[in-house]
Amino acid sequence: MGFRPARFPTFSHEDVGNFSLPDRRDTPLYPRTGNTGSSLLQRKVLFIPPQTRHTPAQQALILDHYKPMEAVEEFTKIESIFVRHRNALLVRGQFTPIFTDYYLHLMDLKLRHKEDLDQKLKDLLALLTLHMTARPWAETIAWTVNLRAPRVNFFVTGGSTQENITGNLFTENIKETDRNILYSQTIVPSSEGRKSTVELDSNDPFEWLETYYTQSEQRPARAFQLKDENYAIIAAQPDCDYEWLESLNAEDVEKIMETEETKVLETRKFRFFCGCSVEKILPALAAYKNNKEALFHGDPAIEVSCPRCAAKYIVTPDML
Ligand SMILES: [Zn+2]
Repeated sequence: MGFRPARFPTFSHEDVGNFSLPDRRDTPLYPRTGNTGSSLLQRKVLFIPPQTRHTPAQQALILDHYKPMEAVEEFTKIESIFVRHRNALLVRGQFTPIFTDYYLHLMDLKLRHKEDLDQKLKDLLALLTLHMTARPWAETIAWTVNLRAPRVNFFVTGGSTQENITGNLFTENIKETDRNILYSQTIVPSSEGRKSTVELDSNDPFEWLETYYTQSEQRPARAFQLKDENYAIIAAQPDCDYEWLESLNAEDVEKIMETEETKVLETRKFRFFCGCSVEKILPALAAYKNNKEALFHGDPAIEVSCPRCAAKYIVTPDML
C-alpha cells in the first residue's frame, strides 16, 4: 500500500549536511543498509547506467565480462599526491564503487534521473569526494548547487572520518534564482564551521570546482574527468608553478606520475552511503508532535523522503 508522500516542511538543504555518523575508522563492522541483499554479481551488473538499454546478447556479454569472482571494491580509494617542484596537490580516485552504489540506491527507490542531470550529480559526488580529501579529516561538507536553466538543485554531502558521500537532485518545488549559485557549508566538531556562496557562470561541474577554489579556497585548482571513471583535482600549494597548473590537460594528468616527481601523502576511502534512518528523520517532524493532523490529514501514515539521499520512510502518527 502506498502512502501520501510528505516533504520535510522544516528541512532545508543547508541544515542536512550533518547527520552524525560514527567515525568509521573505529568501527570497521559498521553495518551497511539498503544494499545488504545485493550479491556481488548484482553490484557489478547493475552498474550499467539506467539510461542504457541492452539487447539480450549484449546483456550476456556484460554478464560474462562482470564475473562475480572479480571482487568489487565497496570503497573508492582517494590518493593525495604532492607534485614536487610544481608545488601542487593532486587528489585522484577511481569512482566505479561509488557510482555502482549510487545506481543501486536509485534502483531501490525506482528513481531515474535525466541523463545530463545524472552525469552532473555523479561529477559533483566525485568532485566533492576529492575536495574533502584535500581538506582536514574532521570536516563534513555539503554543497548545494542551484542552476537556473535547466532549473535544478543538486545536493551532495560527505565526510572523511565517516568515509561517506551521498547526494540527490531536485527538479520540483525549488526556488527560482536569477543566477547559478553554489552554497558550501562546512561543519567541524566543536567549532563554528564555515559557509560560503559562490556565483557560477557555467553549467559545467568541473568549472564550478575551479570557480569555488578561486573564490572560496583562494587558491587556483583544476578539475578533470579521466579515463574509466577516474577523476582528479590539482590544487595550488604555496609557491605553485601556476603556468604549469594552467597549462594542464586531462592527458597530462593521466601521465603525471611518470612525468613529474611525486609523493603519495595519504589515502582515504569513501563509499556512497547516507546514514539516514527513520530515527534520524523523526526530529525534523517534532514541530508536528502536538498538531499531527496538519501533517497526516487523517491518513494512517505518510511517506517521508530523506532530503540528502531521497530514501523513503513510512511515518505513522504514533511515531512522533
Ligand atoms: Zn538519506
